Amino acid sequence: MAECPVCAADIQLPEDTVKGELIECPDCGTELEVTSVNPFTLAEAPSEEEDWGE
Ligand SMILES: [Zn+2]
Repeated sequence: MAECPVCAADIQLPEDTVKGELIECPDCGTELEVTSVNPFTLAEAPSEEEDWGE
C-alpha cells in the first residue's frame, strides 16, 4: 500500500512493483513514480519530458 503524494489516496501496488515503475493514481489520475519499494514511496512523475534518445 502506498499513498498518493498529490491527493493522499491509498494506492494498492502489486507485489512485483519495482523501483522506478510509473503508475497512475486511480483517484486523481496523476502519473506517479515508485521511488522506493520498502516501504512503497511514490513521487509525482516528471512531466512528459522523457528522453527517448531520439
Ligand atoms: Zn492521487
